[in-house]
Amino acid sequence: MKNERRDFIKKATFLGLSTGLGIGACTSYIPAGTKANFYINTSKGLPPVKVSRKRVIKESVGLRPFRKIGPRVELQELGNKKIVHNYGHGGSGWSLSWGTSKIAADLIDTTPQKEVAVIGCGIIGLSTARTLQDRGYQVTIYTKEVFPQVTSAMATGTWSPTSRLILQEHITPAFKTMFQNACSHSFNTFQRLLGINQIVNWMDNYHISSSSSHSNTNHHKFAAKDQLFSSDMNFYPEPKQLEHRENPFKAKQVHKSPTTIFNIPIYMKMLRDDFLLAGGKLEFKTFKRPEDIDALSQKCIANCTGLGSLELFGDEEMMPISGQLCFLIPQPELNYRASMSGVYFIPRKDGIMLGGNGIENNWNTIPDKEVTDRYLEGVTEMMNNMKG
Ligand SMILES: Cc1cc2nc3c(=O)[nH]c(=O)nc-3n(C[C@H](O)[C@H](O)[C@H](O)COP(=O)(O)OP(=O)(O)OC[C@H]3O[C@@H](n4cnc5c(N)ncnc54)[C@H](O)[C@@H]3O)c2cc1C
Repeated sequence: MKNERRDFIKKATFLGLSTGLGIGACTSYIPAGTKANFYINTSKGLPPVKVSRKRVIKESVGLRPFRKIGPRVELQELGNKKIVHNYGHGGSGWSLSWGTSKIAADLIDTTPQKEVAVIGCGIIGLSTARTLQDRGYQVTIYTKEVFPQVTSAMATGTWSPTSRLILQEHITPAFKTMFQNACSHSFNTFQRLLGINQIVNWMDNYHISSSSSHSNTNHHKFAAKDQLFSSDMNFYPEPKQLEHRENPFKAKQVHKSPTTIFNIPIYMKMLRDDFLLAGGKLEFKTFKRPEDIDALSQKCIANCTGLGSLELFGDEEMMPISGQLCFLIPQPELNYRASMSGVYFIPRKDGIMLGGNGIENNWNTIPDKEVTDRYLEGVTEMMNNMKG
């Protein structure tokens, strides 16, 4: 018994470093509609954002759980436990949540267990737990923290399945297959959630190219969209460059494209309520070492601890990429989002969110006043750029 436990710990620490690729899920992919369906005439102008420091109602810094070799979705046998990992989604965790949870559930289906312990109560833990419940599993979530402390609560909440997901040099054909399956399943699931309490919405996005626009060279080391999607995968119409008469901004180069946003607080509350209503149990527990997992009564474990896997499983491929957000008082009349010079705003139900930064290996979660000032200046510039 002692030997088995020691073996468990050793494997948990060192096997955690292996490249993790899940088995592809079998999902149908619905191609996007034609351009003409999506674009509305905005020549009459857009409602402006009221920008001022006095309207700032909250700020946050979240740590994206980035894994250099991409999210780990795989089954690992440790002692007498089967652990299905589902972590390391970088800046794409919301977007890929249903997809990698489906792949994780498919892996759990290969075990004889009907009771599962899910560790973690962020978007990945909740989506995995709900997916398992829908397949008839008894699920208990064990977690250190819940909303609003989790990283998932500090996200922008847009459809961004390739954002800070994997370093280019680590893309493999197997990873691409896993990613594409996860992406298609997630996209289709989000469309089925449309209309339910506005947890998921479609919205027009304006990308304004300014003379001072600069590309972040750091972004070049992360995989780009065209490296991960196949040429026939097109979830949205191509961004349309606006002609002068349909362009609400003074800048010459403005691209418009529809996108999906997630209203995070109500979305997470709905998932948690649904989980409890379906008979799920939630327990607060911090796992410090793999032995703590070994001590659980369940034989099948879904590890959805995000950045927590760095310490818990010794996964040195993980690193935080911090992102600061600031929120202005909500303006219900705003029905579009926009970005310029690396700053964006998105009108969510819980406030108008401003953001755009990403600092690698930064563990500091105290909001920086200078970053907020830069966001406020950026959105002021966008508003000054609007036609009168
Ligand atoms: C600023 C910012 C903007 C973002 N924007 C987007 C976006 O627009 N679109 C998108 O798709 N994604 C976005 N992301 C990424 C997304 O938020 C993450 O990928 C996602 O939240 C990861 O979810 P998770 O459940 O794995 O992690 P978390 O939300 O961190 O949840 C991990 C859970 O595990 C628990 N846990 C950890 N360690 C332990 C332990 N040892 N014992 C017990 N419990 C433990 C935690 O308490 C928590 O409940 C953004 C992230 C940030 C920071």
